[in-house]
Amino acid sequence: MSNQVRVRIAPSPTGHLHVGTARSALYNLLFARHHQGIFILRLEDTDEVRSNETFTQDIIDGLKWLGMSWDEGVDIGGPCAPYRQTEKIEHYNQIANNLIKSGHAYFCYCTPEELTELKDNQKNAGLPARYDNRCRNLSTEKEEKYQAQGRIPAIRFKVDEPRVVTWHDAIRGDILIDSIDLGGDLVIIKSSGTAIYNFAVVIDDIDMKITHVIRGEDHIHNTAKQLLIYEALRAKPPVFAHVALMVDLDRHKLSKRAHGEAVHVAKYRKDGYMPEAMLNYLAQMSWTHPDGKEIYTLEEACQRFDLNAVSKSPAVFDVQRLNWFNSQYIRSMPLDVVAARCREFLKQYDLTKYSREDFLAIIACLRDALTTLSEIAQAAAFFFVDSVEIPADLRTTLLAKDPSKQVINELIGALDSMPFGDRVACKAIVDAIGKKLGLKGKDLYWPIRAALSGVTSGPDLGSTISILGKDRIKSRLEAALYDLNVV
Ligand code: GLU
Repeated sequence: MSNQVRVRIAPSPTGHLHVGTARSALYNLLFARHHQGIFILRLEDTDEVRSNETFTQDIIDGLKWLGMSWDEGVDIGGPCAPYRQTEKIEHYNQIANNLIKSGHAYFCYCTPEELTELKDNQKNAGLPARYDNRCRNLSTEKEEKYQAQGRIPAIRFKVDEPRVVTWHDAIRGDILIDSIDLGGDLVIIKSSGTAIYNFAVVIDDIDMKITHVIRGEDHIHNTAKQLLIYEALRAKPPVFAHVALMVDLDRHKLSKRAHGEAVHVAKYRKDGYMPEAMLNYLAQMSWTHPDGKEIYTLEEACQRFDLNAVSKSPAVFDVQRLNWFNSQYIRSMPLDVVAARCREFLKQYDLTKYSREDFLAIIACLRDALTTLSEIAQAAAFFFVDSVEIPADLRTTLLAKDPSKQVINELIGALDSMPFGDRVACKAIVDAIGKKLGLKGKDLYWPIRAALSGVTSGPDLGSTISILGKDRIKSRLEAALYDLNVV
């Protein structure tokens, strides 16, 4: 189908997967799926110094973790054909040479020292840094002289000036960029032979028949440069859509330097965020569901996504709001899914102490209180430890009171007939003890909670008793009584 939508996410593996890149990837995916199009992952690894396999793998892992799957592109060890710019060096060089022949590009012999000197002079004069196009019309003698000096040329693309580059952006509307602001003639092939991003990206987008480029608005000036290259190559440019940048609560751009690991998707994975929550959070950052819904699945977002409904205002990354999404998903996803993910964060405990059913019951009684899955390690600890430590202040202020001792003794006496496995019935027995002793509320529950878990708050008491089982409860209650006699 010639008019099939084809979009791509094209990260450079020079860093970990950034939350902004993940959101751009998501909008590309939603757009592709909405139009029954193709979503491509392309790794832009032309920067051979800063690119590496660790970052490549992190990007792939992060996208997969978020549940984004691509139809074409890199998948290490997988079935998809790899798209890597480093494999296309010859191709880029050939096209650059064609541009020289057609008069759109030329060899530039400037050394790094000369370019630094130019930049310093401009800086000292308070001028913006730009190449002064000095190699654009070199005489043959000069060129031969440079070659005799052993200088290896780069290839520069001629940027017409003055001129206004314009396009209709699918998110930001009409955009006008003065070519004076593009920094002068543009290196497209370095003297090392490697293609520069702004050139390789155009060739790749043409080769891959990309119809829409959806990316961060930090690329707006690059788009103007790229449009000039499309024109020189007589190729039809794709539709461009620039998504607003992500900012923090103080409206500062999210950056590794200022925000550290918080800009990396991997951090959220490590900290126990649900990928579905993260995806939902990223989706709604700049796009509003037409029915105003906040919680929706990837499939639903694919059905309803519309590029025209993407906002151009900066998107505020607010971890509290992400936490809200995360807790909603922890509460509502199928219990066995949440439980399986919790295992990851409970590795320090011997989980075989409980049956699968009881393990699910543990997660069921704790999950409503979790903001992230990693909190399960602390919340569930009392189920797995051999004995609990009752803090000294609780021992002296609470447990040492006579009614507390009575509650504990009564509960020990009730253990033989306790209907373990039935949390409602277990709770009813506790309440019957309360009735008998004339106690309720914290006078009744706190001594039991303190003895069983070491704290006075926690999951529903009926569940705690029902899951812990007779032996653990007996030894914890007896230990509490022993402690009290020692106080
Ligand atoms: N490699 C570029 C980046 O990581 C991709 C930009 C684009 O989508 O064209 O920012």
